[in-house]
Amino acid sequence: MTKSTPEGTRHRPRCRNLRREFTAKRYPGVTRIFAPQMLLRDQPSACENARVNAWPLYAASAAGACAGIAAWGAVSATSELFGPTLHHTLDASQIALTFDDGPNPAFTSQLLNLLERHQIQATFFLVGRFAHACPELVREIADRGHNIGNHTETHLNLTFLPVWRIADELRACQDSILRALGFERDATPVLMRPPFGYRGPQLWPAIRSVGLRGVAMWSLKCYDWKVQPAERLIKRLERVGERRLLPKPAGIEEKSHHGGDIVLLHDGDARALGADRRHVLAALEYWLPRWRDAGFEFVTMNQLAAPAIVGR
Ligand SMILES: [Zn+2]
Repeated sequence: MTKSTPEGTRHRPRCRNLRREFTAKRYPGVTRIFAPQMLLRDQPSACENARVNAWPLYAASAAGACAGIAAWGAVSATSELFGPTLHHTLDASQIALTFDDGPNPAFTSQLLNLLERHQIQATFFLVGRFAHACPELVREIADRGHNIGNHTETHLNLTFLPVWRIADELRACQDSILRALGFERDATPVLMRPPFGYRGPQLWPAIRSVGLRGVAMWSLKCYDWKVQPAERLIKRLERVGERRLLPKPAGIEEKSHHGGDIVLLHDGDARALGADRRHVLAALEYWLPRWRDAGFEFVTMNQLAAPAIVGR
């Protein structure tokens, strides 16, 4: 319709002339220049091609998205894709300190002394084979009023293991801890923490089969498993107080993800006994009195294990 209008017929030759003039000036010797839309016009569009062969593309995209979601569910500390987890305290004024990969004869006793000095109870996720090697440290942890959790017997990545193999790892760790405690059942672990935080859909059936009641994850990790200057860890732990500054949700029930931090720290190294954790000790010597002065309450993981979260 535009073509037949007088304006159209007058306008088009003028445009063509202008384009020729521009081409001659800009590209001397070139008689004609193609606009991109002219080049595209004679070729089948990407959309037309897609209409013909779209299904493999859709299937690949869907498979990619599913793989991405599964990967997130397997490694994210706060995902609950493969079952419920504890990953925040109930209130932003609460901190739960957790220590993994011990007991460690080079460090755990010093850490226990520091915690006692500040009257703080924490949770220790023990590797079963280390509990077997250092039973006196396991008893010391329990005697000083801390919680003990199950961190598997040999610290394997559980993601792709079958249910029975995960159950074996958890059961062996329970046995090692129980033996170290002299079968003192009050301190028996009720929670487990998957090594590296990795988990899959087969984790919960394994947990139920050995009588454990929950999965303890975290909201804050500080990469303290690498030996580093204490200042770096002190800086990372600054984030512990930040959650309290977040606005509380108005008019709705406060949910666990608005709570405070579960802090992941390490008193041991899953690869061997005797790890150097002086940076952890120094960073906690700095922060524990400051967190106390700021009014934080320290809770253990068993205190957080409300019926709504565990035992499903
Ligand atoms: Zn670990």
